[in-house]
Amino acid sequence: MTTSRGNIIDGAGYAAALRERLKSHVADLKAAHGLTPCLVVVIVGEDPASQVYVKSKGEQTTAIGMESRTIRLPDTTSEAELLSLIAELNAERAVNGILVQLPLPPHMSSLKVIDAIHPDKDVDGFHIANAGRLAVGLPGIVPCTPLGSLMLLKDAMRTYDDSFAGKHAVILGRSNIVGKPMAQLLLQQDCTVTIAHSKTRDLPAVCREADILVAAVGRPKFVQGDWVKDGAYVIDVGINRIEVDGPDGKKNKLVGDVDFDAARGRALAITPVPKGVGPMTIACLLNNTIKAFCLQNGLPAPEGV
Ligand code: NAP
Repeated sequence: MTTSRGNIIDGAGYAAALRERLKSHVADLKAAHGLTPCLVVVIVGEDPASQVYVKSKGEQTTAIGMESRTIRLPDTTSEAELLSLIAELNAERAVNGILVQLPLPPHMSSLKVIDAIHPDKDVDGFHIANAGRLAVGLPGIVPCTPLGSLMLLKDAMRTYDDSFAGKHAVILGRSNIVGKPMAQLLLQQDCTVTIAHSKTRDLPAVCREADILVAAVGRPKFVQGDWVKDGAYVIDVGINRIEVDGPDGKKNKLVGDVDFDAARGRALAITPVPKGVGPMTIACLLNNTIKAFCLQNGLPAPEGV
């Protein structure tokens, strides 16, 4: 095993290779069965960040040869209207994946909306049925960001001829979409898992125990360099836009939840922001859509999906 420090986990490169593999799976499925997986993304309102994500999801879906449909609804749409649209999409055989872009306008309950999606079409993996399957270790659809983070960690383990079993994984953050499913995935890999959050006492000391540290806090550069154990794997899920006064006239930039420059010197391997976990999320959405397609058509999922 290498003893060097500061190796970069290339999420953008891994995601590009994953998309290529998925593209060939889509072509194979089309050739063998004459069917093409279809992802429908529903967006309500005009949130600019959501618009960017939705556009990117549509483009990447089409780029690997799948069908993409984007349904844009005004923010005056009622919750009942959205639920009725989801019911129609649930019933439509040609639709394999349904994603409702979050956040929803305040007059809608995202829990209610997510739970209206058929679990087998819930490509975000947020439905209670999928969360339950993950918790009890049954096959299901796993949320994209934790799934992508796990793929990067597995690849790093292969690179450094290392293994998960017995490692202490500390997950910083307990959201339903990142922290909790990440903890379940690492538990399944036989890690000893600690979930830390805003009420955790002596967070730096907890983080220093981590062989694997996953930061999903939503606070720029929150994890300090000296919170990182020597030789740890660091996965930075955070995406935070901060203001800068760059010499090139740049006014803002993206940073993670980890102080990258300080942490890099201690970590064996670390994801950068951008180009780390971020690109894995949409790649895993495509992965989940193919998985859902196979599930709905009684086909075995392609290797690795
Ligand atoms: P979230 O729902 O806001 O959850 C944040 C978690 O961090 C909560 O559990 C919170 O604890 C904890 N936390 C907040 N402040 C803390 C503090 N001072 N000390 C310790 N814990 C603290 O966020 P999320 O949706 O999980 O997202 C987390 C980050 O990942 C964000 O930067 C988000 O933009 C990013 N993200 C990236 C992707 C991607 O594609 N790469 C996808 C999703 C999210 P409490 O529960 O106690 O409040």
